[in-house]
Amino acid sequence: MLPRNPCAAPRPVDEFELIQRYFVRDGEARGVTTGIGDDGAVLQPEPGREIITVIDTLVESVHFPADIAPADLGYRCVAVNLSDIAAMGGRPLWMTLALTMPGSDEEWLSGFAGGLHEAATEHDVSLVGGDTTRGDAIVISVQISGDVAEGQAVHRSGAHVGDTIYVTGTLGDAGAGLALLSAGNSDEYLLQRFLRPTARVAVGQALPGLASAAIDISDGLLGDLKKLLDASAVGGEIRLEALPISAGLKAAFDKKSQRRFALSAGDDYELCFTSSREVPDELGGVAVTAIGTITDGDSLVCRNHGEIVELADSGYRHFQ
Ligand code: ADP
Ligand code: MG
Repeated sequence: MLPRNPCAAPRPVDEFELIQRYFVRDGEARGVTTGIGDDGAVLQPEPGREIITVIDTLVESVHFPADIAPADLGYRCVAVNLSDIAAMGGRPLWMTLALTMPGSDEEWLSGFAGGLHEAATEHDVSLVGGDTTRGDAIVISVQISGDVAEGQAVHRSGAHVGDTIYVTGTLGDAGAGLALLSAGNSDEYLLQRFLRPTARVAVGQALPGLASAAIDISDGLLGDLKKLLDASAVGGEIRLEALPISAGLKAAFDKKSQRRFALSAGDDYELCFTSSREVPDELGGVAVTAIGTITDGDSLVCRNHGEIVELADSGYRHFQ
């Protein structure tokens, strides 16, 4: 329900009209028996596959700056959920959207819906329902359901001693982009890595049968890898010199900052996974880099060319 507020928009639109205009898309959608327009969506799972469902909420001024372009926000709130589906080894299929906003600002809605559908279309995900409410701040919850062959979902808890630790793409770019933005500077590549995170959906679908455990990097490599280690009841060692750093990050920051962003800045939405098998250098067109090994025990150790580096010195703050 979105109550009318004649003061908030040049021309008040009712909720039905708003949903039709910005959120309904024509065309066939995989496995959707009933989409937007009824009390609920009816979805048809494929035989032999299990459903994976994820949800993420983004709150204005907490998870995104209030002045972010609405199209970037729309894209981002889909991408962060696609990343969770990818980390489970899933194929994304269906999406619902709960949107709270101060009024029905059509320019904002048009940009937001454009970014949202852009991210969804890239991965053939359809919006099958949602809820629209008025509130003081913008709050967006996107829920995505996907599927995976029965018993093939990849969990955080499957890592074994001796497995190699891998990451996709490059680390630290999004954190560096956000830091530049906050300081009033900009670097197009780094900024885009923050504003338009590329969920590693194709890599995710290559993980079943290949990875023993996986997690997506939303809060920073060290923090997220530690979650995987704890869930698997193992320890880990990473080689700092092996961390994949982009040319863009190298050009914009000194070595210490590069490492700090790569280890502890969030928002990259790369995948971190473990495997005992032979892993190619590239999965789904994305570079994959071995950065360390799963060990006995419960600690995460960083080494620089063999020498142990204290986490605090590596730029990691959360454990202090
Ligand atoms: P109800 O009152 O039964 O909860 P609503 O009137 O809120 O239904 O919604 C009508 C239809 O529009 C439903 O199919 C719902 O899923 C869909 N819907 C509402 N808001 C959104 C949104 N922001 N994005 C996509 N679908 C939406
Ligand atoms: Mg209803």
